[in-house]
Amino acid sequence: MGDATAGMRHMDCLIYEYRPLRLYVNLTSRCTNECTFCGRTAHHFRLGEFDLRLSREHPAAAYLAALQRRLAAGRDPIEVVFCGYGEPTLRIEELLEIARWATTQGLPVRLNTNGQAELIHHTDIISRLVGCIDRVNVSLNAPDAASYVRVSCPAAGDEAWPWVVEFLRRAVRHLPDAWASVVGAVLSPEEVSAARELAAHCGTRLLVR
Ligand code: SF4
Repeated sequence: MGDATAGMRHMDCLIYEYRPLRLYVNLTSRCTNECTFCGRTAHHFRLGEFDLRLSREHPAAAYLAALQRRLAAGRDPIEVVFCGYGEPTLRIEELLEIARWATTQGLPVRLNTNGQAELIHHTDIISRLVGCIDRVNVSLNAPDAASYVRVSCPAAGDEAWPWVVEFLRRAVRHLPDAWASVVGAVLSPEEVSAARELAAHCGTRLLVR
């Protein structure tokens, strides 16, 4: 489901229902990575029928209004998911406000993230997620720093990798469910195996997309 804010030239898609009954929250078009496989890097921002390019960043109230309209209009959703062509934790205050509201509605909340929140904000973000984020998919994307730089081209260069691994490790420890993911097409089978071992070392599973 797309949601447009009146008076805007571009029909910004604030929430979208990419999979039925899952409400995806498109918080930002900014990211600290330039992953080789990402539609954002290719500047098309398209995901199926949805154009996720945002002409500007919208306040949390606009998302809450869109979510409330959706809840009033259709079958009950089963999950709220922070996911778009951008890194949601760049807007951590808005993310937390929306996640807390979803929690009060009894909706499970998932965060899809590149795992760099604590590098971005230089503070403990995991503890702020406790109580309002139920599931976290950390885009590990690689088994080591060199392949992470190759695949995800982080703005922070080599420095990003240990932050991503530590975020995964702490998310597994402190949140109800957290796992890692990679895109199989951009890694060798050996790299996928090594990423699976690293995820296991962090106490969780690897999703190969
Ligand atoms: S971290 Fe996610 S949003 Fe950012 S460039 Fe990579 S795939 Fe795209």
